[in-house]
Amino acid sequence: MIILVLNSGSSSIKFQLFEMNDQGQQLLSKGIVERIGIKGGVLKQCIGGVSQVVLEKDIPDHTIGIKLVFENLTKGANAVLKNLSEINAVGHRVVHGGELFKESVLVDNAVKQQIKECSELAPLHNPANLKGIMSVEALLDSIPQVAVFDTSFHQTMPTKAYLYGIPYNYYEKYKIRRYGFHGISHKYVAEQAAEMCNKDFTNSKVVTCHLGNGASVTGIKNGASVDTSMGFTPVTGLMMGTRCGTLDPGILLYLEEKEHLSIKGINNLLNKESGLQGVSGLSSDMRDIEKAADDGLYRAKLAFDMYTYRIRKWIGSFVGVMNGIDLLVFTGGIGENSFKVREDVCKQLSFFGITIDEERNVGLCGQGGIISASNSSVAVAVVNTNEELVIAQEVFKIVNN
Ligand code: ADP
Repeated sequence: MIILVLNSGSSSIKFQLFEMNDQGQQLLSKGIVERIGIKGGVLKQCIGGVSQVVLEKDIPDHTIGIKLVFENLTKGANAVLKNLSEINAVGHRVVHGGELFKESVLVDNAVKQQIKECSELAPLHNPANLKGIMSVEALLDSIPQVAVFDTSFHQTMPTKAYLYGIPYNYYEKYKIRRYGFHGISHKYVAEQAAEMCNKDFTNSKVVTCHLGNGASVTGIKNGASVDTSMGFTPVTGLMMGTRCGTLDPGILLYLEEKEHLSIKGINNLLNKESGLQGVSGLSSDMRDIEKAADDGLYRAKLAFDMYTYRIRKWIGSFVGVMNGIDLLVFTGGIGENSFKVREDVCKQLSFFGITIDEERNVGLCGQGGIISASNSSVAVAVVNTNEELVIAQEVFKIVNN
């Protein structure tokens, strides 16, 4: 079965084309369309492991963006298909499924309407995801499409974990609660790490740290998410590249009075001007922070220390929630590549029986593997996340049924 996976953002579309069967899958093509709706659109394709620009032209909307992806898959030097009819199904990453979607679904009119209803909860993401679905529909007519949600995995959180301590009627009226994100990644890396470390995923206590530009930690007990650090929106929990993470809401009231910030100003402050960027005043990129901290820049070192301290704090809280831990997993650009972050997070977790092997940890850069020391009672692993592959697997399962 040939499956196209699309991850549509507000101005970009990431794509991967897989050939899948019961035995496994082969990646046929991978790339990204960028700057949709902005001047200077570009289509890049991953060729020989390197991202290369294959087309530059203005791309006014998602439908035209997807059309270019289709042309690129079927025509010219990078073509991998003779005809678009070879594509059997399309999978979409959809950020917010609210309480409506506890698992991936085949898209029909009712599902489209429900994704639209969830847009209120994710105004930056869901409309773009929906545009991706509609564009494929317009171009490929009745092809089966599957929606895979970033929130679904966390729908197993118990009520006491997902409710906020505000009047209950706001949950009833507006569905204000914690949803959690990165669910596709948390589930995938936990399963992969359990297999790597010979643990039974359905009978283990796992903490997964997805550390990319956005970042979250999840506690997974017996295969189900029991709690996660992100909440109603992805701005809370860990300190991130440009997002603040958990914040005393009283600060917003205080700042509103002192700085007369508008809603837009507060939104920018929390999402774009905070985190590593805001504390260091230098960069949101962990590579820059590590380098500047090594060079002795106080605020870069502070940002690094605050970043790892908070990860440790969240891990500790989930060990408490689950009454133990068998497996700790790192993933995302930072989790997969920064041995310094992993080392700093783990070095004060020995109380839980977590000890990493320093050499193994430093040796793993960008590859997955086990980094726990042989005397560690908790296994610690690094897994390269692959959300697109999970989406393709979900499509294969649903469309085959
Ligand atoms: P996104 O959430 O946008 O998918 P990624 O998962 O790609 O983000 O992660 C981006 C982060 O990974 C950036 O902060 C970047 O600095 C960090 N990163 C990538 N490579 C390294 C590295 N070798 N060392 C430290 N951090 C790295």
